[in-house]
Amino acid sequence: MTPEEIRALCLRRGRRRLALVLLPALVCALLVAAGRWPWAVLLFCITLTTITIGTLVPRCALFGGFIKRQPPGSKQPLLTIDDGPHPEHTPAILDILDRHGITAVFFLIGNRAEAHPHLVHEILRRGHEVANHTQTHPATTFWALRPRRMWDEIARCQETLARIAPEHPPRYFRPPAGHHNMFCVLTARALGLTTMMWTARGFDGTLTDTTTILRRIQRKLTQDGIVLIHEGTPVCVEVAEKVAAMLSQRCAQA
Ligand SMILES: [Zn+2]
Repeated sequence: MTPEEIRALCLRRGRRRLALVLLPALVCALLVAAGRWPWAVLLFCITLTTITIGTLVPRCALFGGFIKRQPPGSKQPLLTIDDGPHPEHTPAILDILDRHGITAVFFLIGNRAEAHPHLVHEILRRGHEVANHTQTHPATTFWALRPRRMWDEIARCQETLARIAPEHPPRYFRPPAGHHNMFCVLTARALGLTTMMWTARGFDGTLTDTTTILRRIQRKLTQDGIVLIHEGTPVCVEVAEKVAAMLSQRCAQA
């Protein structure tokens, strides 16, 4: 299939899913017309709750499978770093990872990669992997994107990163804020991407107390886990330093 045919097929599947979700709304309307209000309200609440949980709970795979943790038998947690590249933070974090002998997956935003292509090359040169984190990172609206816009966000980031480093096209995708509606995993898969979530995070995108952030990560840390931290926050370099120390210490004990 040509890329255009793959896109058309993906959009068609997305529209079919949308029609399926609208079906309960039609049944609700029929129930209301028949005067069966309690049943209409019950069906509406069940549908809305199911869609909300499937979209907003990062570890819920209702709308398509994704990687939640590494394969069994993995010896070391995998570090993943979202929202780069950043002109100050990326070089500092790369130095930290070098010092601790840790490799990571950097989930990059296409627009930022376009602005700092040399940082994409530097991440790869130091032995890390780059992955797809959408072109513009629409964190507050990503949960509501329809099939066409969803395709644009993921496909454009894929094109951007593949253009900057053609020999290292991304293999993984992560949705902004972990929100994945019914079109998200479907679209990533059509583009040949595996969606990767995480098992341990410290909410470093919103919190600034590094002790709390570290404690939250430590609590969820397992050998086959996937750790999430961010670039672009006031404490990101400090968090990266402490998490890298934690992981290398754990590796030394294993
Ligand atoms: Zn993000």
